[in-house]
Amino acid sequence: MGMVRPDLAMTETPPAPKNRRLRPLLALAPFALRDKGRIALAFLALVVASAATLVVPVAVGRVVDFGFSAGQAELVNLYFGAMVAVAALLAGASASRYYLVMTLGERVVADVRSSVLAHLTKLSPNFYDDARSGELVSRLAADTTLIKSTFGASASVALRNMFLFFGAAIMMVVTSPRLSALVLIAIPLIVLPLVAFGRAVQRRSRTAQDTLADASALAGEAIGAMRTVQAFTAESQLSGRFDAAVQRAYRGARDATATRAVLTAVVIFLVFASVVAILWWGATDVIAGRMSAGLLSQFVLYAVFAAGALGEISQVWGDVSQAAGAAERLDELLQVEPQIESPKNSTPLPVPAKGAISFEDIRFAYPARPHSTVLNGVSFRVQPGQTIALVGPSGAGKSTLFHLLLRFYDPAEGRVLIDGVDVRSADLFELRSRMALVPQDPVVFAATARDNIRFGHPDASDAAVEAAARDAAADGFLRALPEGYDTEVGERGVTLSGGQRQRLAIARAILRDAPILLLDEATSALDAESEALVQDALHRLMKGKTTLVVAHRLATVLKADRILVIDEGRIVEQGTHAELVAKDGLYARLAHLQFA
Ligand code: ATP
Repeated sequence: MGMVRPDLAMTETPPAPKNRRLRPLLALAPFALRDKGRIALAFLALVVASAATLVVPVAVGRVVDFGFSAGQAELVNLYFGAMVAVAALLAGASASRYYLVMTLGERVVADVRSSVLAHLTKLSPNFYDDARSGELVSRLAADTTLIKSTFGASASVALRNMFLFFGAAIMMVVTSPRLSALVLIAIPLIVLPLVAFGRAVQRRSRTAQDTLADASALAGEAIGAMRTVQAFTAESQLSGRFDAAVQRAYRGARDATATRAVLTAVVIFLVFASVVAILWWGATDVIAGRMSAGLLSQFVLYAVFAAGALGEISQVWGDVSQAAGAAERLDELLQVEPQIESPKNSTPLPVPAKGAISFEDIRFAYPARPHSTVLNGVSFRVQPGQTIALVGPSGAGKSTLFHLLLRFYDPAEGRVLIDGVDVRSADLFELRSRMALVPQDPVVFAATARDNIRFGHPDASDAAVEAAARDAAADGFLRALPEGYDTEVGERGVTLSGGQRQRLAIARAILRDAPILLLDEATSALDAESEALVQDALHRLMKGKTTLVVAHRLATVLKADRILVIDEGRIVEQGTHAELVAKDGLYARLAHLQFA
């Protein structure tokens, strides 16, 4: 079932088969209902078009019965004239219906896409710990496209044919109740296989979409990391895996199509066989004088309409079943509930912000690995304006402290407080607005340098952006870019050097001007000059802020008010650089290795 974790999706117990088929599509109905005016107009156009179609056989029947006898020329003119008028009406109504229903489909898909993405932005990091981005993007693109055809074209065709079918059926009864009774027997013969095959199509479509998403996930990952792929000469290995995934997607789609093809054959045969049977029966009635030739023509035309409509409905049923498979996958995403949310009645954080931080006896394991404790009884306090350096071996749990402070996850035990407020009782937006993060490997988006700096403070003026860049020692290289601040810096900042990306991230943090600064120092060695520039920039950034920094440099630990040494999820030592070196413990060892 795709990549959504079973414990996160709310589809653990499969509902009854009957509900299952329509439920995912019904979940999308609210999107369609947003545009009630368009639906009403489409409905009107539909009624008019169907009525116009249904008038034609009456006119034909009349012409057959009376038109060919002498003295009826005027009536014939009238009937033929009326037929042209009806054709005009039919044309107008059909075009309107087509336009209205298709645009309804486009509207629904646009709205579904936006809501799915908006929903994704609300999901907590633990969802992304095991979701695959390409898979999610495939749901946004491929699955919504399938649904568009259902809400648009298929709905249009289905409704028209449903109207036509019922209209024609009523007119058949009016024309000849006897022959109609015969038709009644044929209907279940046609409908039952429709339903059975529809179910199979939906199942296969679901599989096809799942495998397609797998292929997309693989492609997304590879395209994002092509340099690594090429550096490791893994091209053919990757193409092979992609090819296998695409082949699986192909087989999935082929199976769904094969089922639909059988469905089409069965329906066409049953429909035609029924019409022939009725025609034969009617012909014996005409011969016996129980029915006029005109009435039989009229009846047969209606029967052909009804049968044609049924045939089209069977096609649409295939589409709808396919879309239901896709809708199911989208609905699953929409059903995933964020694990971390703002509380209903949040406690306001004190204004003005002070920037005090306190960890109280924190015990924590990541949801993805619930049995490996990452933090085991961590407590410390940071006074406003202090700089705390976090030092410890790789995997000790330093970055995890940031994750808890930003409330990406909640601890199993203990409390994290900011300015005396438990982060769990604060509003998420307010809470995170009080922090600026400079990650170890800064994320640069495919946008202009200016917009990248503005990321954490979207309404900052150009002057403020440039001032932040100057403070971050980024102004020089940004101005030297071909279009200065307006240069597109490329997805993940591939057109920038490591040191430049870091300074861009620092400028972003400076502009955000939050009371708490979370800094994950890069481990990668910068050249001496960039290093000095970055250090200077950081120094300016930290002024007057409470700073937690995962330290990898001597300059940083020397500047810190206090150093916390973390090992295996505990604080094992703390103090200043000099105190800790004198202690000759873990810190002294690490410092000797790292800062020598
Ligand atoms: P480094 O200096 O190498 O960045 P760190 O001290 O910052 O290390 P953390 O990133 O806090 O270490 O990770 C602590 C432990 O938690 C590691 O053992 C890591 O494997 C695990 N871990 C980190 N993130 C996750 C996650 N999202 N899901 C599951 N386990 C995780």
